[in-house]
Amino acid sequence: MDDSRRTFIKQTIGFTAACLTDLDPGSLAQTLKPNEISGANAQSQWYQRPMRWAQLAFVEDDPGNYNLSFWLDYFRNIHADAACLSAGGVVAFYPTEIPLHYRSKWLGNMDTFGDIVAGCRNLEMNVIARTDAHACHQDMYDAHPDWIAVDEHGNKRRHPSDPEYWITCALGPYNFAFMTTVHQEIMHKYMVDGIFTNRWSGSGMCYCEHCVKSFRDFSGLDLPRTDDPQDPSRRQYILWNQARLFELWRLWDQKIKEINPKASYIANAGGGALSSLDMKTIGEFAPTLFADRQGRSGLMAPWANGKNGKEYRATMGQKAIGGIFSVGIEDKYRWKDSVQSDDEIRLWVADGVAQGLRPWFTKFNAKVIDRRWLPVVEEIYKWHHANELYLRNEKSLARVGLVYSQQTASFYGGKKAQALVEDAALGFYQALIEARIPFEMVHDRLLDRDHVDQFRTLIFPNIAALSTAQCQQIREFAERGGSVVATYETSLYDEWGVRHEDFGLASLLGTSFAGKVQGPVLNSYLLVEKNPATGTYHPLLAGFEDATRIINATNQISVKPRDQSFYCPLQIVPSYPDLPMEAVFPRPTKERSPGVYLRESGQSRTVYFPGDLDRTFWEVLDVDHAKLLRNAVVWATNEPPRVSIAGSGVLDISVWSQKNSMTVHLVNLTNPMMMKGPLREIIPVAKQQVRIQIPDGRQVKAANLLVSEKSAPFRIEDKFVLLDVPSIMVHEVIALDLVI
Ligand SMILES: [Zn+2]
Repeated sequence: MDDSRRTFIKQTIGFTAACLTDLDPGSLAQTLKPNEISGANAQSQWYQRPMRWAQLAFVEDDPGNYNLSFWLDYFRNIHADAACLSAGGVVAFYPTEIPLHYRSKWLGNMDTFGDIVAGCRNLEMNVIARTDAHACHQDMYDAHPDWIAVDEHGNKRRHPSDPEYWITCALGPYNFAFMTTVHQEIMHKYMVDGIFTNRWSGSGMCYCEHCVKSFRDFSGLDLPRTDDPQDPSRRQYILWNQARLFELWRLWDQKIKEINPKASYIANAGGGALSSLDMKTIGEFAPTLFADRQGRSGLMAPWANGKNGKEYRATMGQKAIGGIFSVGIEDKYRWKDSVQSDDEIRLWVADGVAQGLRPWFTKFNAKVIDRRWLPVVEEIYKWHHANELYLRNEKSLARVGLVYSQQTASFYGGKKAQALVEDAALGFYQALIEARIPFEMVHDRLLDRDHVDQFRTLIFPNIAALSTAQCQQIREFAERGGSVVATYETSLYDEWGVRHEDFGLASLLGTSFAGKVQGPVLNSYLLVEKNPATGTYHPLLAGFEDATRIINATNQISVKPRDQSFYCPLQIVPSYPDLPMEAVFPRPTKERSPGVYLRESGQSRTVYFPGDLDRTFWEVLDVDHAKLLRNAVVWATNEPPRVSIAGSGVLDISVWSQKNSMTVHLVNLTNPMMMKGPLREIIPVAKQQVRIQIPDGRQVKAANLLVSEKSAPFRIEDKFVLLDVPSIMVHEVIALDLVI
């Protein structure tokens, strides 16, 4: 047995002893004690300092063939204060002494990585080393065939993009032993501030001998052959895979800290409901984190970058988070040397910055083939540097939280998680953007008082899978005066995705499950009704006074009200034939079936839609649904908005406080092809009238527009600042200087 194998087995012993059959998905964090050094004191360590990142990802022929001083000049010029630079893994760019650690054929006697690290240090930049763990060369295969990933048919996996490489197994000795020594060597030689690993968490299921054994030791089962999350083996796999990856994360972090206690392992990890590693645990492990959503493709909305920032912040709190953006076109065809349209880069980065991401540009290949992106990043970074004080946010002042749930995606959504879970969130997200309501995202495993009491309203867009404890936290939030907006199957399933007899939140939602879920329902409507007692419309129907009925959601859950006596502003018109045309008329029905459930208890308000209005909105984008979702949030929130902005156009809005100031970001999404990149040109929006609530006990001494670089005349009315923003191209930031 060689040393690396011995190390690997030693690493797995403590881990395999735990069989997690009794483990709820929420208790992973307790089982795997996060590295206390990483999480604690992150605020006082280097991680908070850098505001602008530069990443140079070397290709194998860069050594000796690229211009180092060009890059150092560029980094200095754009005020980049940290760099991520390629060191090793697939290819080493330094003189490694580790057997089988493949050196670039162009490296010769040079130390390409070391030279650029030294140059960046001269610029007083923080430096982290990039490694890549997902592929290896033939000599590694020959020496350790068991380190190669294996597909479901038992075949070792060649790299699909370059057949000279093999795909490695992420959960066996390649990572636990070999990459550990690579990380130790890099840390010994260069004492960098951290190591960031790309593609470290595997490339799909692996059926190698190590995975088979480790999974059996963990669960007593064979690796799953199905995606069904209700299959016992798949359920255990979801837990085992995460536990194993967090074990690896902790191992690398520990080995790095043994050499440089100020450094950390920084995984390329994280995301929203569809990401597989638990974000709550990541939030406890990671001292900083970078959202790797490099650009949009297909029909991705331009606010998707900001959404990523909110998802990360939900569990990272005030720790620094970066937004990795590509200067190239992000598409499945992978033109890695391309350059994206300059306005598309501007908009993508602006939305990330507006939602609290620190910009990080990534460039593959240090030999610049197409230079058009250079002045664009320079312009963005110079502005960012000039306004840095206003971008060091301390707190979001949003009063609405949109909840996301990885366990709902994993155990209820399964293969259909995009349609069942994420599309509902995207629909609500779009509705909130259109409504110009600033909001944050909230992780469903952080519903405790400390994480949610900054919000007036929590939105649950079909958050179907919730544990008893989570439901209790939501009820307690409501008991403390918080409001809740929920849709469709929210709380109808337990945390494992197993359906209950009734909603976990039945008493709060004011209704009980009547046993049927229908969909897709065609040609169904919602009747708009006045309150017969008062002759007035409920505020939920603001803007619908001239309407008789609007379209219904396409998936419907049948419910029975707990109290039949209340006024319901929306009644369901059941589906009726849509063909032949002669048959298209509503059939009489005596049954009244509410399309919404509204409750008020003290300060707390609840709105529950039994249809999947949010998901339907994402699919159909009907303006009536946008209004209804907006009205639901406005009615539930029941307080004057902290920021209101009147004017035409679609804006993404955020509101922040800093040490001695507060800011309101407005990102102009009103552009040609906003629903599909890349932009062709920026069309400015006209004047916006802005009303901002002044924080209690503070006074405003100046108001400036940071992008147009001018002061903004303002007046104070009661506790509000009133001012105009004359026009917005991509982005504007209203900065209010506060008297200390
Ligand atoms: Zn494996």
